[in-house]
Amino acid sequence: PKYTKSDILKKAQELDVKFIRLQFTDILGIIKNVTITVEQLEDALDGKIMFDGSSIEGFTRIQESDMYLRPDYDTFCILPWRPRRGAEARLMCDIYTTDQEPFIGCPRTILKKVCDEAKAMGYEFQVGPEPEFFLFQLGEDGRPTIKTNDRGGYFDLSPVDLGENARRDIVLALEEMGFEVEAAHHEVAPGQHEIDFKYAPALRTADNIVTFKFVTKAIAMEHGLYATFMPKPIFGENGSGMHLHMSLFKDGVNAFYDPEDRETGLSQIAKYFIGGILHHVKGFTAITNPTVNSYKRLVPGYEAPVYISWSSKNRSALVRVPAARGNASRIELRSPDPSANPYLALAVILAAGLDGIKNKIEPGPQTFDNIYEMTPAERLAQGIENLPGTLKEALEYLSKDEVIKKALGPHAYEHFVKAKLIEWDTYKTQVHQWELDQYLPIF
Ligand code: GLU
Ligand code: MG
Ligand code: MG
Repeated sequence: PKYTKSDILKKAQELDVKFIRLQFTDILGIIKNVTITVEQLEDALDGKIMFDGSSIEGFTRIQESDMYLRPDYDTFCILPWRPRRGAEARLMCDIYTTDQEPFIGCPRTILKKVCDEAKAMGYEFQVGPEPEFFLFQLGEDGRPTIKTNDRGGYFDLSPVDLGENARRDIVLALEEMGFEVEAAHHEVAPGQHEIDFKYAPALRTADNIVTFKFVTKAIAMEHGLYATFMPKPIFGENGSGMHLHMSLFKDGVNAFYDPEDRETGLSQIAKYFIGGILHHVKGFTAITNPTVNSYKRLVPGYEAPVYISWSSKNRSALVRVPAARGNASRIELRSPDPSANPYLALAVILAAGLDGIKNKIEPGPQTFDNIYEMTPAERLAQGIENLPGTLKEALEYLSKDEVIKKALGPHAYEHFVKAKLIEWDTYKTQVHQWELDQYLPIF
């Protein structure tokens, strides 16, 4: 651990901290805050702060709604865009029950549990994310629009691109909060951006992803822009993915690397891990792509994966093997999107990969051809299947995948599925503009 209790108390004083946001996420990965003043910090560090869990999505328990927040000291940091006199800090927390037991529905606890399983096998799961997002203009009424401010870029001689400025400030804020930002760039679609940060153990990366989303939204707002992680906000343009670069380390050495394998540089462990992912991907897609809208991204033609395959040559594959070797050897999973709860997403992906290792699941041959140019018959002949096409289909696959259900635990599984089925049913019964345009003139 980086910090002790007294380190934090001292830092809070030195940095003139007045408010501390105790943060956690609900089952959907939405960040929640309980704000306390510095006078309560010591109690908070001792895990004595309580909140009412019954109003949090996926936490509800009928008998007991009192829950405790137990901060992870290492997540202490200042929110750099807030005032510095009477500064604001945050701490990420685990949820505990009144019996002082970890709450089984806490997403952070769920990820820790699967990471412990990996640890028992000798592995540490390392993940580097590539979240994409859009910056949109705010409307007169202060509500987000889907208008971007760089659409006219080519003719527009204005030296100031609001989007680029906002992205620059997001990166600076992240760095102040201890992030190692590896790359920040404009993405393919108008108004679309990507910020990549350095890989870290899975729990840290999941904390980083929720923090990243929260910082991005806050800084964009200061620039009068709305940042969205909605997977497919604009029809006909690329959607936003969140590729995950992953490896397992054993005793500080990358267990995915094998110099003997000339073709991929991947060890047998890495191949079993891929095997596990390909085997369980249909089962975990409801978690990595959890919204109705997620499935509008997973269609051909927009650089998002649709078919279940792996390749060290082909960018269109679901699992890609980047060219880096040695400690940087890794695999890239390209299906997840940034609407996922990162704790649950990393938990189920790791569970899938470990299952591949335990059961020696071979990934099968790589796909070298461009899958998108194959005919359905050619794909069938090579045994290449599709990812689930809708949230509903994904939920059905999830209900049949015992490994993924076990990783989530019954509490999170049941609450997640319940919330998502309501979401699906609400969507399904809506009459969309497309239907009116399509049918009203004809029938
Ligand atoms: N935006 C693409 C997606 O939906 C990914 C583009 C890229 O390769 O970075 O996944
Ligand atoms: Mg990208
Ligand atoms: Mg990528």
